[in-house]
Amino acid sequence: MNPTVDLRSDTVTQPTAAMRAAMMAAPLGDDVFGDDPSVNALQERVASMLGFEAALFMPTGTQSNLCGLMAHCGRGDEYIVGQLAHTYKYEGGGAAVLGSIQPQPLAQNAAGHMALADIAAAIKPDDAHFARTKLLCLENTWNGHPMPMDYLAQASAMARAHGLAVHLDGARLFNAATAAVQPGETVADAARRICSHFDSVSVCFSKGLGAPVGSALCGSKALIARAHRVRKMAGGGMRQSGILAAAALHALEHHLERLADDHALAQRLAHGLQGLAGLQVRSAQTNIVFVDVADGRGPALLASLKEQGILATGLIGLRFVTHLDVGAAGIDRTVQAVRAFFAQDAKASGAAAATGASVY
Ligand SMILES: *Cc1c(COP(=O)(O)O)cnc(C)c1O
Repeated sequence: MNPTVDLRSDTVTQPTAAMRAAMMAAPLGDDVFGDDPSVNALQERVASMLGFEAALFMPTGTQSNLCGLMAHCGRGDEYIVGQLAHTYKYEGGGAAVLGSIQPQPLAQNAAGHMALADIAAAIKPDDAHFARTKLLCLENTWNGHPMPMDYLAQASAMARAHGLAVHLDGARLFNAATAAVQPGETVADAARRICSHFDSVSVCFSKGLGAPVGSALCGSKALIARAHRVRKMAGGGMRQSGILAAAALHALEHHLERLADDHALAQRLAHGLQGLAGLQVRSAQTNIVFVDVADGRGPALLASLKEQGILATGLIGLRFVTHLDVGAAGIDRTVQAVRAFFAQDAKASGAAAATGASVY
């Protein structure tokens, strides 16, 4: 029996043996007293790697974004955000519900960009009628799309010129960095270049980096002090969390440069799926491959893959995510299974045509 090829998300990874060893060996303390050496080491490492004064370890990316938004904005303030952004659409409305922060969602194009003119037009003047526009929130990668550095620079400069702060939901920051790496640069260098346009950044360790749990919010010392208070309120003050921070630190030290392997496997999958009638590869720029399946056959394709131990998500548009627990063999099996699914179709309709049977 072939092992399962789980392409539902990069969150499904298991900690490697070396990561588990690092967790077991981690010196621990009570982080609510601030004396867990492994948490402190991680926070210092991620802050300095990304060019910030301070960082705070968080149980999830959702809590990290919430703490970031609430550290920037108070009751009656407003943040500008994409209509399909994670912080707006996929976090239970936390900024509004828990922070009394008004979202100002804006349309995004297929690559996730809000038009700069739309952002400018959404910034409210100082007038008693309006919420106070305080923050622009971007996401990188967005749906697997890396944001061009020019766009980040322009959007951030424009927001700052209006007195706004800029937050990045960088759950997959290091995938964006991998796509942005220039000759002679490391992934960490490229990540720092992206972060230079932001006042705060949230990164996940539990996605492509392969840690079991955890995110970090990075920013100035003053911002992180405010976020610390919110994290406590949100129930995110953890005790011997160094056992988790050690996994994240191990990932930062050992799993950044290997993200290129995930991107190469996404390309391998995208190429393997090209040229099929009934399936169109829509995008495959980092570790996420989106395909459109014609004639409402997406669910049937997913079910057929599942029978063969291959897992993906979606309906009309299917999503396949590569990560450190899939290799070339799993990707090749996926390509063969998808091609076989459509070949069977072609044979069935060919046979029907040959016998004159109806193909309706
Ligand atoms: C995964 C993700 C988050 C955080 O998710 P958690 O499951 O709370 O860790 C935030 N933003 C984006 C874009 C994400 O993909």
